[in-house]
Amino acid sequence: MTNTTARARNPLAFLDAEIDDLKARGLYRRLRVVESEQRSRCVIDGREVITLSSNNYLGLNTHPRLRQAAIDAVERYGAGSGAVRTIAGTMSLHEQLEAKLAEFKHVEATLTFQSGFTCNTGVIPVLAPEGATIVSDALNHASIIDGIRLTKAERRIFPHADIDALRSTLRDVRAADAARTILVITDGVFSMDGDIARLPEIVEAAEEAEAIVYVDDAHGSGVLGRNGRGSVDHFDLSGRVQVQVGTLSKAIGVLGGYVAGPASLRTVLEHSARPFLFSTSHPPAVAAACLAAIEVLETEPELIERLWDNARYFKAGLARLGFDIGQSETPITPVIVGAGALAHRFSDRLFEEGVFAMGIGFPTVPEDKSRLRTIVTAEHTAEELDLCLAAFERIGRELALI
Ligand SMILES: *Cc1c(COP(=O)(O)O)cnc(C)c1O
Repeated sequence: MTNTTARARNPLAFLDAEIDDLKARGLYRRLRVVESEQRSRCVIDGREVITLSSNNYLGLNTHPRLRQAAIDAVERYGAGSGAVRTIAGTMSLHEQLEAKLAEFKHVEATLTFQSGFTCNTGVIPVLAPEGATIVSDALNHASIIDGIRLTKAERRIFPHADIDALRSTLRDVRAADAARTILVITDGVFSMDGDIARLPEIVEAAEEAEAIVYVDDAHGSGVLGRNGRGSVDHFDLSGRVQVQVGTLSKAIGVLGGYVAGPASLRTVLEHSARPFLFSTSHPPAVAAACLAAIEVLETEPELIERLWDNARYFKAGLARLGFDIGQSETPITPVIVGAGALAHRFSDRLFEEGVFAMGIGFPTVPEDKSRLRTIVTAEHTAEELDLCLAAFERIGRELALI
């Protein structure tokens, strides 16, 4: 008996095989640990570095108004919300935040979720029931892909930003069925290349086919549009995009996702979006800090100007050094180097020189388009950006990239 047990196969052995495989393919990574505040300069793995890898575009995560709002909320309401939204977990702060976001986005209603990820996985299945067709950009975020996987709708993926392909797909689907619900989904800003969706053309193609347009503006929230209202505002398309998703986790500096649209959408989601029904709501401090962040966007637009000034300065510097920085139109600037192993080597050497820029390879991007993805923030000083550019130049030459 004991012998049989001792000889029994370890049922988790496939995990070790998976790790060996990751190592063999050069994809094995250890998590870097941030040991200080998350700012332009921080301590990571015991080393002080300038970071170019956070989504904290405006530095709001350490803004005094957000800190104070979070502290006040903890003192007044405690640490947790205690329930899901649909039972006893809807607190007045959640409702205040949603009203504020609706006013900010110029829509009838918004509904918040625990994260941008759960927002997409909650909203997409409600908008695309069985019998609907989803038309989705090939480079859409993983949370959109997973949201689509949770539906029984038909899926059509069009090549990234290919408006002709989108238009002909929409015509085919509409011609086959005049009554069908069609949902067009796109990122507002694509997270690995920093390009902006061609929303005016997408909206036009969708209107022709009477399709719903759904824009996930995770990297556009707080970055694009007036006071950071996002890509729909940037293109002046308010009223023509039915559903906008935003994140509260990136430029807003805290955590969460929200959907903005008609009041009817909110009401139906309250009754059927599964992460809303079955997962506990935000702690009061999160809702309070998000509320403060929207007020900061309204009253301190200079933060967004500084972000864009820094982005232009850093991009110009990288281009002058001769790096391939792709087609970015936003503060996300990829530095494309080719093979994944080279991107990781570049990232590791920069880290030793005091600059943190994460290497990104397959499967997130194609292997021959491996890159460092950089994001400057409003907090970076000119001196910090110059130090980064000097390090990129030094290591770029060392690795014969420039
Ligand atoms: C980051 C991101 C998300 C996820 O947002 P979280 O709030 O971090 O969960 C969703 N969609 C897109 C396009 C993103 O870039």
